[in-house]
Amino acid sequence: MTKKYANLAIISNNTFEATKAVNLHHYDISSALQTTLEFNELIAIFTSKIADKIPHSAYIYINTEFGLEVKSGVFTRHSCNYALKVEQQQLGELKLMRNHRFSESDLQLLEALLCCLIYPLKNATLFHQALKMAYTDPLTQTRNRASFNDSIQREMSLATRNAKNLSLIFFDIDHFKTINDTYGHDCGDITLASSAKWIKESLRESDLVFRYGGEEFVILLSDTSANAAEMLAERIRTSIENHTIAYGMETIKITASLGVSTLHEGDTLESFVKHADDAMYMAKNNGRNQVALSR
Ligand code: GH3
Ligand code: MG
Ligand code: MG
Repeated sequence: MTKKYANLAIISNNTFEATKAVNLHHYDISSALQTTLEFNELIAIFTSKIADKIPHSAYIYINTEFGLEVKSGVFTRHSCNYALKVEQQQLGELKLMRNHRFSESDLQLLEALLCCLIYPLKNATLFHQALKMAYTDPLTQTRNRASFNDSIQREMSLATRNAKNLSLIFFDIDHFKTINDTYGHDCGDITLASSAKWIKESLRESDLVFRYGGEEFVILLSDTSANAAEMLAERIRTSIENHTIAYGMETIKITASLGVSTLHEGDTLESFVKHADDAMYMAKNNGRNQVALSR
């Protein structure tokens, strides 16, 4: 009886010791990678955790699905590059660089360690895909109302803290109901998707477009003065006026009315939004197909 226990103890102890050296390092990396769902943080943690085993001077991580390029360190001559993928899911490309070549055994070890990174990257991908879906209007591929509520809070705080301008454009298609009534709801949907596309084409990367309601869009412009926002609204108005929608044998022209407001001291979220909305109604009342500036 005693002998049996003693044997078991030895076997189990041997087994534990044999796996410990390899797995503890993996375990350390894996548990560190479980602390975040942000791509840049995952890559930073991974590269710092492997630095003693695979010294490198820089890394670049590119994820085209989410428009990410994360770089750090000093770029040097030799590199190794991995397109990361699991179950048909692309997870981006990771490149490590250094002054001397990566040996075969370095690459083998790196590949073994990359296994720790794959599933955290997959989780981050699923999380960000879900987040994007929850914040995107499926018809127009613009941000939705929930996203607007989050973004405007954040942008207002940033603008106030950094003493920067923040402007808002309210955009409403003129007589949109007539399009639905005349050509049908499908044509109305195409009109909405086309309008969103033409609005986006008039903007910078950093400008945010939201579908606020049925045929109303809101554009949030950071670091943009009232005059610049008014010029931009005019550019959007002209673009809408100059485009034509082809629907079957029909060609359809639309126009839009736009209202512009700029954040002033003492503005609340509600007053900031209301000023743009009021300006838009002013543009409607003045005859539509025009831009009006609040106050
Ligand atoms: P105005 O010039 O005063 O803005 O008139 P309008 O007809 O554009 O405005 P109104 O608010 O009277 O009508 C908006 C219409 O938009 C009514 C609604 O049925 C339609 N609508 C809202 N959401 C959608 C959608 O997702 N698809 C389509 N096809 N129509 C929509
Ligand atoms: Mg409307
Ligand atoms: Mg309308």
